[in-house]
Amino acid sequence: MLQIPISEVIKKIETSSGLSEAEINEQIKKKLKALDGLVSEEGAAYIVANELGVKLFEDPTSGPLKLKDLVAGMRSVEIVGKVTRVFDVRSFQREGKTNEVGSLVIEDETGRSRVVIWDERVNWIKEGKLAEGIVIRVKNGYVKASNIGGKEVHLSARSQLIFDTETEIKIGSGGVAEVKIRDIGPDQQARLIGTVVRVFPPHFYKVCPECSKKVTEADEGTRCNKHGVVEPKFAMVFSLVIDDGTESIRCTAFQNRAENLVGMSAAEAKEFGEEKALERIETKLAGKNIQIEGNIRENKAFDRIELMINNVNVNPSAKMIAQRLVNK
Ligand SMILES: [Zn+2]
Repeated sequence: MLQIPISEVIKKIETSSGLSEAEINEQIKKKLKALDGLVSEEGAAYIVANELGVKLFEDPTSGPLKLKDLVAGMRSVEIVGKVTRVFDVRSFQREGKTNEVGSLVIEDETGRSRVVIWDERVNWIKEGKLAEGIVIRVKNGYVKASNIGGKEVHLSARSQLIFDTETEIKIGSGGVAEVKIRDIGPDQQARLIGTVVRVFPPHFYKVCPECSKKVTEADEGTRCNKHGVVEPKFAMVFSLVIDDGTESIRCTAFQNRAENLVGMSAAEAKEFGEEKALERIETKLAGKNIQIEGNIRENKAFDRIELMINNVNVNPSAKMIAQRLVNK
């Protein structure tokens, strides 16, 4: 994940600060504890280096960092990426004053990051100048862990946001990048490989037989917004938790994706009954290594992030798993 391995970071701190390796490790441990799971060990090491004024990069102005290499606690970072999403400007009160904050998502060929802007720059969002498809370069930004575990680049008064018309950014390669669970943030697509550590019983809800959209009960019967009164069928929603050694995440599948994952149709599973269906699902999935692809969403009600499943591979090849172990 980092350009510099943690052992090297510690060595650099050792030579520039005069602290012993044990003392540095102690500080990293303290930082990890203080940030309570918000940063990785590498991230904590970066923060400690920053606080001690140890320069980790020979020349911090040597060019932009790749988005996948951003670590919470970094300062004075330069990044460049294509805007792929712009959020509505939010206003909030602080000390009796109304402030505004804007955020967007940028991507490069290695990953994506949320970018958070304050002060008059939010007008660029309101005016539509900061829009999807343009390339921006941020200088002197700082990286923060968001309160739900993702990484964000914030701009301060001395940061620069440049509309970059010269750099070309190729996003991804069509495929979704494989990431570690501890590195994911909201509003991104992710591919994860992990072990199924928990399965939940499937739940059922009524949908339109024509368009599979949710239906509502009305006086005249069950209604689809598009197809009027219909004889509904049951659809299934199913959740599991996977763990990849860095962290775990709850993943949820709806309709045919749930049916594929479970290996039963909604009607079959309903016929089985929740408990029996759960038993069968456990036999099929518990403890298995699976690959999951989907969108990361913030679940505000539970203050956690979840993955909405688009694609599942319940038998990732041995080669892929081995590769993953090597990469660790
Ligand atoms: Zn319908």
